[in-house]
Amino acid sequence: MWRAVRFIIIAAVLLVLAWWIGGLPGNVTAVSGPYRIETSVPAALLILFVVALLLTALLRVLGGIRRAPGGVVAWRGGRRQRLGEMATQRGLVALAAGDVAAARAEAGRARKCLGDTPLVLLLTAETARLAGLHDQAQEAFRRLAQDKDMGFLGHRGLLRHSLAVQDHEAAGDHVLAAERAYPGSAWLQEQKKELAVRRQDWPVALGLTRDPAEIAAFAVAAARASLTPQHALAYAKKAVKAAPGLAPAVVAYASALRQAGKPRAAKKALLAGWKVAPHKLIAASYLEPLATSLERAQAASELAAARPGHPESELILGETALAARLTGEARRHAEAALAAQGDDGRAADILARLDGKPAQAGSESAWVCEACHTRCADWAPVCPHCQRPGTLAWRARQPDAAPA
Ligand SMILES: [Zn+2]
Repeated sequence: MWRAVRFIIIAAVLLVLAWWIGGLPGNVTAVSGPYRIETSVPAALLILFVVALLLTALLRVLGGIRRAPGGVVAWRGGRRQRLGEMATQRGLVALAAGDVAAARAEAGRARKCLGDTPLVLLLTAETARLAGLHDQAQEAFRRLAQDKDMGFLGHRGLLRHSLAVQDHEAAGDHVLAAERAYPGSAWLQEQKKELAVRRQDWPVALGLTRDPAEIAAFAVAAARASLTPQHALAYAKKAVKAAPGLAPAVVAYASALRQAGKPRAAKKALLAGWKVAPHKLIAASYLEPLATSLERAQAASELAAARPGHPESELILGETALAARLTGEARRHAEAALAAQGDDGRAADILARLDGKPAQAGSESAWVCEACHTRCADWAPVCPHCQRPGTLAWRARQPDAAPA
């Protein structure tokens, strides 16, 4: 409403002005040298108006040019920012693709354009790590760790490095710092577990896993390292519960029960373990307290009765019979083990010794890492080659490796 009124008022004023100018009497004469311009007053006023308009436009253009240098700087700054961001993105992609050379080139470009922003530091650090330039990576991770928002990534890089170089003390510090920077991270739980394993701090490692194979491995190790029979018993019980077929767990449980003065319970535990998965470690533990070879042969038949016909049952019967000079029994069980195709060289050894030949090479079965397939003579909570916990499993000899 007000705008309409204002428009009408302005239009009326302009109309009156134009009418007044149009009615002005007289002439305007301009003389310059030989030129002489003569015009009416209204025309002269119109010319004056047009000249003023042109002058204003000219001044505006000049002002724009004067302000231009600041504009160029701002435009160039924005371009640098964009180039830096693009280099960072390309660098991260190259990093993910494992292209070290490209990642390094982009990291350098990003650093030139953006300086040491947290993202550029991360790219620089990860690229240096991939290239094997550990000092450079460490330096970038250290600076990244000081960032309020991305500090976790810095501590993460430092922790990974200290674990790799087995600096457990520094790793412990970085775990705490990373925990402060990002509480409750699942990745950190894994790292804490790895650190506990490296430190052989089995009770702590046990508290950081839910995987039954890892629980059994850590619990056996904790039971073996326990200073009191009560602790050993509690850990061994946990190990057997997590992996009833793991012979070292069964044996650890039986040893703990014996130490706690419960030999009958120990025997029961070994028989239960044999029922699940017969193993020579269980047999050795079962026969250990017995003094004479006849007692041992008798005990072997108790054990074998828990899993009749199993090659391990036949082998332990054959071996104890041989030791007790029950040659007929020994031959019968060794041949039964061979017939069951579960022999790993021990049945052949029994038969060779019965025939007065030299002893055969020992057992060809072994503890084999399920992750890296390394073969080990003794069980360990962590694979000695790939350092993964709970991966060693008992594997019988490969059928194709049988001697002709
Ligand atoms: Zn391994």
